[in-house]
Amino acid sequence: MAMQTIEELFEHELKDIYSAEHALLGALEQMANESSDRDIRKAFTQHRKETVNQIKRLDRVFKTLGQKPSAETCPGIEGLIKEKKAFVRARPSAELLEYYNIGAAQKTERYEITAYENLIDMADKLGMDDAVEWLEQNLQEEEAALNRLKTIASEFDVTDEGSDENVTTAAEETTTSRR
Ligand code: FE
Ligand code: FE
Ligand code: ZN
Repeated sequence: MAMQTIEELFEHELKDIYSAEHALLGALEQMANESSDRDIRKAFTQHRKETVNQIKRLDRVFKTLGQKPSAETCPGIEGLIKEKKAFVRARPSAELLEYYNIGAAQKTERYEITAYENLIDMADKLGMDDAVEWLEQNLQEEEAALNRLKTIASEFDVTDEGSDENVTTAAEETTTSRR
């Protein structure tokens, strides 16, 4: 069946983010488990809790459409999860993985932020005032999560675990660079 209306597109995108949020529940739990730093672990577990609430808000949006909540696989988020798994296969150090996760999580937040912005625009055009409000709440949580992760990334102290050779190379680069 050909898709023609903005209602149909809205529903399609709603099912996509519904799938994405569910996939992120597992990813956030895993990233929390991979964090040795207490604050980083907390950031992931906190956002996981928020994600549970986000799904509840999406349930309500489905309800206003007179629909049962359902998911349609989101290849965007699945792709990011796949990338992470590929990175793990490269056997990074625990510290590097922890730092990687902070960046990977930011990628998912960017995806979610745009997904919610699009959904809000459509809900607004469709005059779905309640849905706009719930989707705005989700959007705000994603934006706050992104900002927290950005701060965590900038404060993350990556100790140089490289060999002496690497240190020398870095030093040489510094001396030879003419800035
Ligand atoms: Fe989310
Ligand atoms: Fe998607
Ligand atoms: Zn999120």
